[in-house]
Amino acid sequence: MTAAGYRDKLAAMRRSGAVVARALELCKELVEPGRRTGEIDARVEELIRSAGARPSFKGYNGFPASVCISINEQVVHGIPGERRLEEGEIVSLDVGAFLGGYHGDAALTIGVGEISDEARRLMLVTYQCLEAAVAQSRPGNRIGDIGAAVQSWAEEAGYQVVRDFTGHGIGRKLHERPQVPNFGRPGTGYRLRPGDAVAIEPMVNAGTLAVKVLPDNWTVVTYDGSLSAHYERTVFITDEGCEVTTPWSRRGVLD
Ligand code: MG
Repeated sequence: MTAAGYRDKLAAMRRSGAVVARALELCKELVEPGRRTGEIDARVEELIRSAGARPSFKGYNGFPASVCISINEQVVHGIPGERRLEEGEIVSLDVGAFLGGYHGDAALTIGVGEISDEARRLMLVTYQCLEAAVAQSRPGNRIGDIGAAVQSWAEEAGYQVVRDFTGHGIGRKLHERPQVPNFGRPGTGYRLRPGDAVAIEPMVNAGTLAVKVLPDNWTVVTYDGSLSAHYERTVFITDEGCEVTTPWSRRGVLD
C-alpha cells in the first residue's frame, strides 16, 4: 500500500468508525426495560443517515435493519422489531456504517437493568477477549495470534467460542479477506500488514459452542439455550501497532 493510500484509508475509516461508535453510544442510552428493539433500530438508522453515512447492514444479503439486536441466547444477527427489552436480559447490538467509501463495524453487549452475576461475568470475559485480540493486532503478527488470544482467554474462564461465525477484513467492502476466527494457533494464518483493517468480534457462549439459525433465517442462537455475549471493534493496522477506529466506550457497559 502506498503512503497516500494508507493515509486516505485510515482517515476514511476513522470517519465511518466514528459514526459507528456514536451509534453504539446511542444504543447504550436507549437500552432499558420496555424499549422496543425496532425503536432502537430506527433511532440508529436516523443517526447514521444524518451523519451522511449509510447503514452497512440494511439490505446486506437482504438483512432488513440497520442494527443486529440479539438477546440472551441469541448470538448474532437478531432482527429488531416489536419485541420489548426486559429487565435482566443481556442484549448485543451490532452496527455498521459506510461513509467515504469505507465501512466501520462494531458491537457490544449490555445488560437491561439489573443482570445476574453469571451474565456480567460472561460479558466481562468476552470484552477481555476482545482486548486481548486487539493487543495482538500489529504488523507481522498473524490471524492465528488473534484467534488464539480470544480462545485461550474464553476457555480458561470455562466458556466456549463460537466457531461458525468469525470476524473479517473490512474496508471498501463490509466483509473482506482475511477471515478472523475466534480460535486458532499462534503463528499461523495470514500475516498482518500496515494498512490492513480487520473487524475483531469475539462471540462467547456460556455453554456449548454449537449454534443454530432460527427459522427467520437470520437469528443465530446457542444450541443449548445458554447465554452468549459479543463485542466487536474495527481495527486498523498501523506501522507501529494498531488503531481502533470504532472507539465506543465501555462506560455503562461493564462498569
Ligand atoms: Mg463484523
